[in-house]
Formats: sequence, structure tokens, C-alpha cells
Amino acid sequence: MNETSQATPISLFETAPAEAPDSAKLATAFAARMERARGLVDAGAVEALGNGRYKVRSGGGGWWAVRPGYCNCPDFAWRGAVPCKHIIAVELARPFLAEPAA
Ligand SMILES: [Zn+2]
Repeated sequence: MNETSQATPISLFETAPAEAPDSAKLATAFAARMERARGLVDAGAVEALGNGRYKVRSGGGGWWAVRPGYCNCPDFAWRGAVPCKHIIAVELARPFLAEPAA
């Protein structure tokens, strides 16, 4: 039997396939949101409210409420594994936003 000598060399990669598809999908989803988030930042859609709270203008003319790790938009509620574009936009814009006077 030669099977054992053939199986050994690929054992290094046998744990990878279980994780790879999910992280690849997450990376793709994240990249798409990152691009939209950049558009929001460029449009000046992010405003600081103070105390770690922000608001981000929505396409419909309203505002989404964002705080670290949370957004009240439907996209975030639907799939929390990937931050929505509003949360990413806040992360991108935060260093450049002036906190409002308390
Ligand atoms: Zn959102």
C-alpha cells in the first residue's frame, strides 16, 4: 500500500478549505462596503454627534445613527458579521471629524 506516503504531504492544507470560502466572501463584502463608505466620506455624509456617536446621511435623505460597533440601518440588522458602509464610513472619517462642543 502506498496510500499513507501519498496522503502525508498535503496534510498541511487540509484545514484550510473549511475557513477559506467564508473569509473570502467576507473580504469581498467588506471591499464592496469600503468602496461605498469612501463615497459617503467624500460626500461629507458623516457627522460627529459627540460621545462616540455619529450620524451618516442615508440615500433617502434621512440619517442613520452610528456608534462603535452598531448602526440602525437594515443592512447592519440583516448581517452583523460585516460592518455596514455607515460604520466603515465613520471609521474612515473619524480622525478628520471635529467633535461638537459639549
Ligand atoms: Zn448602517
